[in-house]
Amino acid sequence: MVLVTGAGPVGLTMAMSLKRLGVDLRIIDKNAERTDKSKALVIWPRTLELLDIQGCAEAFVAAGLKGAGARMLAGGKELVHVRFDTARSAFRYALLIPQSETERVLEEELAKLGVRVERQVDLHSFAQDDDGVSVVLDGPSGRTENARVDWLLGCDGAHSTIRMGLGAQFEGSTMRSEWMLGDVAIEGPLPPDELTICWTEHGVLALFPIIGGRVRVIADMGENMADAAPPPTLEELQAVIDQRGPAGLAARDPVWLSRFRINERKVTDYRDGRVFLAGDAAHIHSPAGGQGMNTGMQDAFNLAWKLALVVHGRAQAELLDSYSPERSAIGAQVLRNAGRLTEIGITRNPLLQELRNVAVGALGQFAMVQQRIVDQLTEVDLHYPDSPLTQSLPGAARRPAAGARAVDVALAESDGGHARLHEVLATGRFAVLSVGAPRVALPDTLRALATSAVAAENDHYDTGHVYLVRPDAYVSSSTGASDAGAIVTALTQLRA
Ligand SMILES: Cc1cc2nc3c(=O)[nH]c(=O)nc-3n(C[C@H](O)[C@H](O)[C@H](O)COP(=O)(O)OP(=O)(O)OC[C@H]3O[C@@H](n4cnc5c(N)ncnc54)[C@H](O)[C@@H]3O)c2cc1C
Repeated sequence: MVLVTGAGPVGLTMAMSLKRLGVDLRIIDKNAERTDKSKALVIWPRTLELLDIQGCAEAFVAAGLKGAGARMLAGGKELVHVRFDTARSAFRYALLIPQSETERVLEEELAKLGVRVERQVDLHSFAQDDDGVSVVLDGPSGRTENARVDWLLGCDGAHSTIRMGLGAQFEGSTMRSEWMLGDVAIEGPLPPDELTICWTEHGVLALFPIIGGRVRVIADMGENMADAAPPPTLEELQAVIDQRGPAGLAARDPVWLSRFRINERKVTDYRDGRVFLAGDAAHIHSPAGGQGMNTGMQDAFNLAWKLALVVHGRAQAELLDSYSPERSAIGAQVLRNAGRLTEIGITRNPLLQELRNVAVGALGQFAMVQQRIVDQLTEVDLHYPDSPLTQSLPGAARRPAAGARAVDVALAESDGGHARLHEVLATGRFAVLSVGAPRVALPDTLRALATSAVAAENDHYDTGHVYLVRPDAYVSSSTGASDAGAIVTALTQLRA
């Protein structure tokens, strides 16, 4: 039995992914209801690809708005304009969807699998030993439950009880700048499907379209505000829009006005024995780049297939050792990038502002730079080159390299009769993918761990190679077709 603690986007993704792979679980949340706040607004293409493996990307797309691009302005002049139709993904847009909707869709997907979130159940404490974890749960109306589970997954957010229970340091800092946030309707000349970011001498202003004709407004307010300042009024928000935004924008009908500070923190280790941390419980950072929730959901995809293989006795428990190094490296990278982007945006130094605007304005005209920005935002450039699961074999393919993302392709043949690579990965097994090469015959002892498949020559993979593709669509290793025995050996080492 697995206990998922927290039914935010990360816990729900974790529970959905595990349940699809047949893992017995409970998911609890101390809140009576899921959030009604828009909070994280973007699902990026890489997360949509991972949801596609789960067979539910379309449900999210139907609930959101396809963001076509992003533009950065300074002093009313456009510095950079990127279009997401250049994304190196089948999903060539940023899906603009409020977090409340993301959680609704995830909860509905989970319900289809027969799992209901147990609400008003608060994980009070836990203690682990070699065989399992004993948990104390405070239920509705003061009822206390003592339960025993095999694995405890801490998806319980920034103030994680589980992280604190482990005594794990949440290392980092709180930025000194204060931010203002508003979800409003806006009239005026604003692209309905593009993100607009304005760098000004007074600070940054970001405008994100949301479904239903609404817009998220975020602005940094400098360092000198009192800690307990009340939420901004609509008039204060409008004043900042007038000061920093494109001319002629009028905000009205606010549904959410708030202030926040940015924390940049991360744990070193995402695992302690039978207890794992994921999402905001493990890392929090600036919303610049909109990667927080996506990174957390990708933590969940990463852990779920590994835990499922171990729980079902198909892979050695050591497989779980790869979770923390893989996701901690990504967490650190996202934290660094978001932090830099924030610092650059909020600088009040006129000389630095001038240098920034000139440099970004010049570089931003190059298609190569624009593509680099799109690759980073869409998260298709996240790799696991240094993972313990990534192996460099003789005769390895160059494209995609070991550790890199494996793109979905049509299959000419597969042991399970699957039509696409993603369908194989949805089973939670590795794919042994031959590209323009004969199918690899797997021994019966490996069939619970991997499925053999063949794709014709295509634009994404090097012909004449065999790839070992992980269930979360990353290449673990590859080799020339005549050396496919090395892939079978690699799989044999993982087998329980
Ligand atoms: C104002 C605001 C704006 C944001 N804007 C953005 C944005 O634009 N882009 C972006 O990427 N991110 C944004 N974020 C961050 C984003 O919301 C988080 O990254 C995301 O919610 C993390 O998901 P999670 O599931 O890890 O944690 P959470 O969403 O915090 O969920 C944790 C859940 O655990 C439950 N829980 C906690 N403790 C216990 C316990 N002891 N027992 C049982 N249940 C428990 C909580 O009730 C909660 O439901 C924003 C956040 C805020 C607050």
